[in-house]
Amino acid sequence: SSIKKEIAESEGKNGELWNLDPSVRVVVRIRPINGEEKEVDPTVRKVSSDSLSVGDRKFTFDSVLDLNSNQEDVFQLIGVPLVKDALTGYNTSILSYGQTGSGKTYTMWGPPSAMVEDPSPRSHQGIVPRIFRMLFSEIQREQENPDGKQINYQCRCSFLEIYNEQIGDLLDPTQRNLEVKDDKKNGLYVENLTEEYVSSYEDVTQILIKGLSSRKVGTTTVNSKSSRSHIVFTFIIESWCKGVSSKCFSSSKTSRISLIDLAGLDRNKLEDVGRQHVQEDKNVRKSLSQLGYLGNTLAEETQPEKPEDSPCGGSCLTHILRESLGGNAKLTVICNISADNRNISEILSTLRFGQRIKSVRNEPVINEI
Ligand code: ADP
Repeated sequence: SSIKKEIAESEGKNGELWNLDPSVRVVVRIRPINGEEKEVDPTVRKVSSDSLSVGDRKFTFDSVLDLNSNQEDVFQLIGVPLVKDALTGYNTSILSYGQTGSGKTYTMWGPPSAMVEDPSPRSHQGIVPRIFRMLFSEIQREQENPDGKQINYQCRCSFLEIYNEQIGDLLDPTQRNLEVKDDKKNGLYVENLTEEYVSSYEDVTQILIKGLSSRKVGTTTVNSKSSRSHIVFTFIIESWCKGVSSKCFSSSKTSRISLIDLAGLDRNKLEDVGRQHVQEDKNVRKSLSQLGYLGNTLAEETQPEKPEDSPCGGSCLTHILRESLGGNAKLTVICNISADNRNISEILSTLRFGQRIKSVRNEPVINEI
């Protein structure tokens, strides 16, 4: 009867069965219009802290951040719990989704110039640098505490790009066609991907700035720089007790933070943009639709079909996201939408994607070794 009660409570949101799994959260962020755009669409409205309406359709998610939300609000909502979970030993992921120009990159990284500054609510610094500032200050606090559990931490990270169905190394741009491997010992990993050991916030920001500057971007009419690739920043934390200490109750732990910024779809007419762009666009479309499909399949608790015809076997993206989506991780998806009134069909498609993801179930566990 408690299951029945749970189902009864969860029905009615979006007219569907609502997944109560707190390990998959979907947050919508509406970005303000900029100088080139004419007016905010009056039909796109935040209705409450977790719902918005588009025309006469109402959508409910875990949270909705409106035009007035700043980067600190996003961090408090998503980043602070992520850091706590990561230090507890959970795998955590953020996936930033939306059409080109909807604010994915801004929300995740912010401008490179803002990465080095102290974060303030008004700073443009994105959620990712804020996460690592907090993470290293938590680690330092723990290590300086004489009554603490004397834990040692070792952190390393990698940064990859999926462009035209090929995996490239953003920390070594000469490596362009890497392969995903899967074995019993290491699980899923990308062969030959550069891993850098890091021990401070400054180490991480240097790597982020370097990696982001190597990302493939194109020029579109929507936005002068559109991201033509999916990028994934992975950060691994290993922790263990220093020596034998009676204060040390927990065993060694390892956890992974995956931060994913997806390529956006452009609204350009294909004939305007040249052949290379058409191929890029086809690959972006294919991988995003496979991701949506994966969301559906996982929600139905069946195995995704064995994908074909790409170096990764189907879509590199779905391969790389296997842990984050339907696996051992706590996932937050940020659906970015722009309030500009020319975007209604893209807004609806982004919100539908968010709904599909919300029905995925993950199974995070604390990764003790
Ligand atoms: P995307 O990565 O989705 O293509 P961007 O993050 O590059 O989009 O955002 C497009 C433009 O809008 C950029 O100039 C960015 O600085 C600006 N922008 C995006 N979101 C916001 C926001 N919440 N507040 C202010 N400016 C924003």
